[in-house]
Amino acid sequence: MFDKFNEECGIFGIYGSKDASINTTLGLHALQHRGQETAGIVVMDSETQTHNFHFADGLVADNFTSTKVVKKLIGDIAIGHVRYSTAGKKTSRNYQPIIAELEQGIIALAHNGNLTNAKKLRTQLIKRGAIFQSTMDSEVIVHLIALSNKKNLPDKVIDAVNQIEGAFSLLVIHKNGIIALRDSYGVRPLSIATQGDSIVVASETCAFDIIGAKFLRDIKAGEMVVIEDNKIESLMPFANKPSKFCIFEFVYFARPDSVLEGKNVYQMRKNIGIELAKEIQCDADIVVAVPDSGVPSAIGFAMQSKIPFEQGIIRNHYVGRTFIEPTDKIRHFGVKLKHNANNAVIKGKKVVLIDDSIVRGTTSKKIVQLIRDAGAKEITMLIASPPTISPCFYGVDTPDKKDLIASHLSTQQICQMIGADRLFYLSIDGLYRAINQTKRDNLNPQFCDACFTDQYPINLTDLTN
Ligand code: SF4
Repeated sequence: MFDKFNEECGIFGIYGSKDASINTTLGLHALQHRGQETAGIVVMDSETQTHNFHFADGLVADNFTSTKVVKKLIGDIAIGHVRYSTAGKKTSRNYQPIIAELEQGIIALAHNGNLTNAKKLRTQLIKRGAIFQSTMDSEVIVHLIALSNKKNLPDKVIDAVNQIEGAFSLLVIHKNGIIALRDSYGVRPLSIATQGDSIVVASETCAFDIIGAKFLRDIKAGEMVVIEDNKIESLMPFANKPSKFCIFEFVYFARPDSVLEGKNVYQMRKNIGIELAKEIQCDADIVVAVPDSGVPSAIGFAMQSKIPFEQGIIRNHYVGRTFIEPTDKIRHFGVKLKHNANNAVIKGKKVVLIDDSIVRGTTSKKIVQLIRDAGAKEITMLIASPPTISPCFYGVDTPDKKDLIASHLSTQQICQMIGADRLFYLSIDGLYRAINQTKRDNLNPQFCDACFTDQYPINLTDLTN
């Protein structure tokens, strides 16, 4: 459909807040870039031991109005989820957080990531009599928690998580608190903060900023945090594995104002631009970014190369999701709905055009044409990441390998296809230098970079069986 990798989900939770639902709504609004298809909030009232929820298709700001949120979602503990469907088709059965009634009472689960053995587990669970309500991989976790023989909820969650594989940051809400955890490789982000006496967890720190919460720390890979009785208990109950944080979070997914793994995303993207300028010398008049994700790298490139940065493409921010539904008719002029060339800046210039990635190549082709039509004398396209050659199975919506243009065409062939005069990608070592100030350790890479290298750090059980 779209010519980008699509981030999967965003999760947010708050404990001990009289404004739990409002804070969660705001937190999800800040995480909206991580999923725009559905949103959901589940609230628990620790006094009355009751729960409330609200789910909706579309954007948080459109569907969580103050009337709905304030009047209906009463409680002091809440978790929320925004979703772009990765595992499980887009269907009204696929809202999160997933609510279930266990022996210990009501729980709800929110998942960011993707399980790589969900199909196998689902088949086994169905044979044992489980009745699935959705097509989401995340529902497998709920069934495993419910079926665990352990006595208390944290032990049941540990038991369930020890059976799943893949990438997952999870929140589980119950009548007394929240359990938050990350998989042993820490592929997807999850951080913890405080807002007065309340405790907050979120996929990205931009969700803390919007409610004035104070960042405490990242939840560690393989860590489970039990938030209950006004305190935070940290456990390390899962297998100890080398961290494989998703490097693409820095390239494209995360919001630039977030801090992930101790690194400001905007600064990382600027570093990427600086590395690009060190790797590729260009004779050009101006540097132009494909907005918005290409902007920080273009600024870094301009700083390092001393070629002026200009706003050569203007983005229209008011293109609704439904307006760009991928019908053939709309897809045809979709780029022009979103981007327009600033002719006065581009005419007669040698342009360095910077984008974060090329996935199918169709959008790049249209953007290059846009710049060409605006009168550019020459176009050098620079990509702020290595060629994307393999799909993601860890919670990102990517096309099949055959649709990833770099999986079957050389850089020169892609350059021809998109109509640029020159095309260069950042090297994988350049990306590591930008993010980590080190070279890639080829035997044990410091990040998951499978979509660039085809080296998957976590078993792809469902694919291989
Ligand atoms: S394959 Fe790895 S690096 Fe690429 S998007 Fe998925 S998790 Fe991120």
